Amino acid sequence: MIDSQVAQRFADYETNVFAKMSRMAHEHGALNLGQGFPDFPGPDFVKEAAVEAIRAGYDQYSPTSGLPDLTRAIAEHYRDRVGLDVDPDTEVTVHCGCTEALAASLVGLVNPGDEVIVFEPYFDTYRPGVALAGGIARFVTLEPPRFAIDPDRLRRAFGPRTRAILVNTPHNPTGKVFSRRELELIAALCREHDAIAIMDEVYENLVFEGEHVSMAALEGMRGRTVTLSSLGKTFSLTGWKVGWSIARPPLTTAIRRAHQTLTFAAATPLQYAAAKALRAPRSYYDDFLAQYRERRGLLVEALEEIGFIVFPPAGTYFVLADHTPFALGDDEEFCVHLTREIGVAAIPPSYFYSDPAKGRDLVRFAFCKTQGVLRQAIDRLRTLQPRRSPQKALTR
Ligand code: PMP
Repeated sequence: MIDSQVAQRFADYETNVFAKMSRMAHEHGALNLGQGFPDFPGPDFVKEAAVEAIRAGYDQYSPTSGLPDLTRAIAEHYRDRVGLDVDPDTEVTVHCGCTEALAASLVGLVNPGDEVIVFEPYFDTYRPGVALAGGIARFVTLEPPRFAIDPDRLRRAFGPRTRAILVNTPHNPTGKVFSRRELELIAALCREHDAIAIMDEVYENLVFEGEHVSMAALEGMRGRTVTLSSLGKTFSLTGWKVGWSIARPPLTTAIRRAHQTLTFAAATPLQYAAAKALRAPRSYYDDFLAQYRERRGLLVEALEEIGFIVFPPAGTYFVLADHTPFALGDDEEFCVHLTREIGVAAIPPSYFYSDPAKGRDLVRFAFCKTQGVLRQAIDRLRTLQPRRSPQKALTR
């Protein structure tokens, strides 16, 4: 196939970095702290519900907006946990994971030539997602060690062509949880410029420090916010790809038009089980967080001892660190060395920046792994020798 025979829309986007690193991990028998998928199963009560649905004959398409029991469970979840009053019939759409919810939101809401503000480092589908819609991404960099918003930079990114801002809180890969103050600044700019806030909240139940603030709950934002999330992280079921979007009816109508073209509907038996999952008792969410708090403590402490400059995450199941004390090249070289020589795979963050140079000193580890695997990985990482002592500030 020659280049002129295929569309150029995604020509600049290489093979997905996660797939690439997972392949390399497999080839070298490395422990995979790269791609963010749990190495333990999802909860039995949810899996049993899916089996029950398959046995009961939930075999055909669900409505394109989602199985009514699931859209109701989503609305209940947001009422009880976030305090949002959501109409399950006109304001909720079930998607094939948050990835499709993002694509449908961008394609449904952004016109060609519109600008979309994206914080970097960003989740890897954001850029091609904006490109898919024909939009133009405007990047605002979050700088280590605190990854705080620079208000002037953000203000300058807004303009007459801004259609939307894409915000991921808690944030992959930095582990940042956007503060209420930061979200209020974004909200004020959205109101001033008549822009939509597209909120990716897939890590909403993984907050270790501070609080998760839902943009839709801020004054004047309900009508201009799209809230996205999915089952994958909270229920350790990333392969199920059940996600959702929540927005007022005019935005939901536009998102649904895109969704019905992209995928039409998510898998029916999995939606049935997702409704059961979202109705889990409070204790499920508490245990889930407590277990991740332990994994986070284990990895963060070890990485610091080993000699990384660590940016301890306030949320998510990722930790970002500066690898330069080991003097093993840039982020890709470091990750290749780690996978081949040390037996631990991680992700090179330069893929998460519009200018890859900004991510060259960093490495991302995922701690959605059993403690046994994390301890084994830590033992392997202890063979790394820092050549320079960490000097940079650690405060966040
Ligand atoms: N957004 C972010 C920030 C993510 O980290 C991920 C998964 N790694 C997704 C979206 C994708 O979610 P899903 O698997 O539900 O499509």
